[in-house]
This record gives sequence, structure tokens and C-alpha cells, in this order.
Amino acid sequence: MSHERVHVASQRSSQPRHPAHTAGATQLSADTIERAQTQPDSLQADEVLQLQQTLGNQAVIRLMRGDGATALPAIQRAIELRPPGRGEASAFERREELVERLNRQSEAIQYHLEDRTLKYTIVDEAALTNFDQRMIAFIDAGPIVPFRLITNEGLISGNRLLIDSVDSAYVDLDDMLASDDLSFQMNIIHFVTERLGIRNYERRIGTSIAQDAAGNTTPEFRRAHAAGIDAETAHLRSVFNDPTIRFVFEEDQGRGRIVFGFRSREGYRIFHIFTRGRQSVQGGHVTVRTTDRRNLTVEAFLAERAAAQAAAPAAAPAAAAP
Ligand SMILES: [Zn+2]
Repeated sequence: MSHERVHVASQRSSQPRHPAHTAGATQLSADTIERAQTQPDSLQADEVLQLQQTLGNQAVIRLMRGDGATALPAIQRAIELRPPGRGEASAFERREELVERLNRQSEAIQYHLEDRTLKYTIVDEAALTNFDQRMIAFIDAGPIVPFRLITNEGLISGNRLLIDSVDSAYVDLDDMLASDDLSFQMNIIHFVTERLGIRNYERRIGTSIAQDAAGNTTPEFRRAHAAGIDAETAHLRSVFNDPTIRFVFEEDQGRGRIVFGFRSREGYRIFHIFTRGRQSVQGGHVTVRTTDRRNLTVEAFLAERAAAQAAAPAAAPAAAAP
């Protein structure tokens, strides 16, 4: 793939603008849409992200596949499972465990490996969840995103890794399998979005992407990480059916405990918490703190909220009436 053209890595309005690069960038160009239909393979990662952010996942999937008679073959080559380097703690031989876990997320889509490439088969298009749609968009995105699978014994600079490392493309299979389903989904959404936000990612694996020579976080990685958080937030909005959920903070609390906090305008909070468990495996789990400060599982909270909404069906229209 060619990478000669100039791109702005993220189109989110909260990002600082680079004057030289903004012309035409904030508007989805007709060229991008046309190439999504005719040559989806030629799209750059940031163009796919821009399409997703502007049109929504499902519209992008329809666009890139075409409709009915003009249907294009799906590209399906963007996620590739690979071993780490020689002498590293490889979990590559356990790669089917990742595929099995993916297949437990939804009955609407199933995954399998062809050689090292992750492929999907849609079982029930109408039942696809936001996570399913993200996975389809990732797999069809064009740029290859490798997952170099390591076990929990894999180290980065002598330290155990939390879920993934952008520089090495490592994915810690043990951490992923120890995470609950929503955490598992958020983790994949985060690091794939992040990797798609790094220009020429596949070629740069093994170089210093996240930090510059002085040890500072690079602007490119900061943007890519923020796009990953945004994509996680969008996923929570879909799972909770609540467009008011916002990301609030991420905090390394020490001793392997890392917390990502989100908040709904309804008043409840969502915490995505990683803790160090047996053999230092760092699985994530997602919990909810209600407005009246009770801690509930996501399932219990959603059931309680649905029951409360069902009990007061007339309240919303009445309040909205002039
Ligand atoms: Zn990140």
C-alpha cells in the first residue's frame, strides 16, 4: 500500500489542529467515500476511522461491501495472529483460545483463522452488536494489525505487560482470557483502534512508537490512545444504550491496579479495573457504581435500569411535552 498522501491522524474536534493539514480534512471527502466503495483496499487507517466516526460502523460496512448486486468481496485481512520474537514467551500455539473467546462474544458472528489471518462469517446481520460491527470494520479496514501473542511470562523492559504493547505489537493472551467479556471487548477495541491510528504501523513494529528518545509520549501515540479511549466510550454507550456516557480518567494506582473511569449524565459511574491476580495475570473487569453508591455488575445494573424504565413508561413523553 502506498502512504504518500498527507493525513491528519484524527478528525476529532477536540484535537489541536495542524493548519497545514486541515484543508479538506474535517469534511469527509467524496474521494474517500468513492474509494470505500470501489477500492476499499486503498483506504488509509485514518480514513477508515473518519468514515466510522462520520457515518457509523454499520454504514461503513455497507459502503465498503456495497449493496446487493454491487457487493464487493470483503477484504478480511487486517487482523493477523503472529508469534513474538525468538526466545519470547509465545502464546501463538494457543491462538485458538483467542478465537474461541471471540466466538463466545456473540452468536451473530463467528470467527476462524485461515493461516494466521482472522476471518469472520456473519450468522445474523440484524443481531450484530457494536463489538461485532467494530470487529468487522477492523478486519475490513485494510491496514494489517498484527497481534503478536505472548503469555503472561512475556516481559517488556523487564516488566510484565498489561494487555498489550503498541511498540512490540504484543497481546498478552493470559490477561485477555482473564478479563470479563466487556473488558475483553473494550481491550480489543482499544488496542486495535490505537494500532490503526499509528501510521505505517505494521512496518514500525519493534521501533519506539509510544515514546520519543527523551522518554516523552509522542503526539502520534497520544492521539491514537485517545482514539482508543473514544472507541471504548462509544462501545459503553452502545452496551448501556446511553449516549451521555463520557470518559473521565485513567489512573495507575500502583501494585498492578489500573482504573479507567467513565460517567453517565444519569449519575452512575462505570469503572474498568485491572488488578493483578494469580501469577501476575492482569485481567480487567467492568463494574458500575450507582447514583446511590452501590456497586453492581454491569448485568445487574442494566437489569435494574431496564426495570426502572419499564415501570415509568409515561414519564418521559409527559416530561417532553410542551
Ligand atoms: Zn492505549
